[in-house]
Amino acid sequence: MMPSKVILVLIDGLAWQVAHDGMGYLQGLCEAGRASLHCLDSALPSLSRPLYECILTGATPVESGIVNNGVARLSTQQSVFHLARDAGLVTAAAAYHWISELYNRTPYLAVRDRFTDDASLPIRHGVFYHDDSYPDEHLLLDAEMLRRRHDPDFLFIHPMNVDDAGHRHGYDSPQYRNAARRIDTQLATYLDVWMELGYQVIVTSDHGMNNDKTHGGVLPEERQVPLFALGDRFRHDGAAAPLQTQICGIVADLLGLRHGKANNREILAC
Ligand SMILES: [Zn+2]
Repeated sequence: MMPSKVILVLIDGLAWQVAHDGMGYLQGLCEAGRASLHCLDSALPSLSRPLYECILTGATPVESGIVNNGVARLSTQQSVFHLARDAGLVTAAAAYHWISELYNRTPYLAVRDRFTDDASLPIRHGVFYHDDSYPDEHLLLDAEMLRRRHDPDFLFIHPMNVDDAGHRHGYDSPQYRNAARRIDTQLATYLDVWMELGYQVIVTSDHGMNNDKTHGGVLPEERQVPLFALGDRFRHDGAAAPLQTQICGIVADLLGLRHGKANNREILAC
């Protein structure tokens, strides 16, 4: 099978049920047989930085040592960014600055790192932000600029407004649900173009949210997250859900990379 280009969208703090109920465009793609929706349990603890590492390297927080949001050091794992760069592929990310800290440089210095173009780094082209209220709409424009300008093989996109709304208003709030609806609407502008161009797209989340306006434990609303798989390399006929630790290996397989990551051929059509 020819390698595919991949876009991985990590919507921070998006709980499964809210995604399922509120993301009408993505659900419409599922109804049309062009996408499929899976329910995943996040690894633990259900915290952001540990789960960025889990999704991008396949290692659980217990394995990686990125055990809470305060562990601000470079990852010691091979991430999909490393694997892709080492194979000569072009990598890019529009993401929260912790992603730059995990895979490019620590600490994050905004004047140096906010806009990154450096072929020696695992994330070759980056636009990083450091304010949780940085508008998702602007972040998606940053990502689309990176895609058009650099034609990356692997593009990672990481909007924060859903998580931010959850921390301000809690899981069971109109503001949290509406933030999920908004990013669904905003993504709709791009997804069709990306799929038309042959990208395989995964839209998922690190963790959910609870009614105490936090997350970290094993409550269903803080642990269950969606994974929408879009594109013709995925099966859309009811394959079993992958594990969060398999996302890295699935992306690596789609990119045609050699790797030793846990993967899941079940959700791939070819
Ligand atoms: Zn959060």
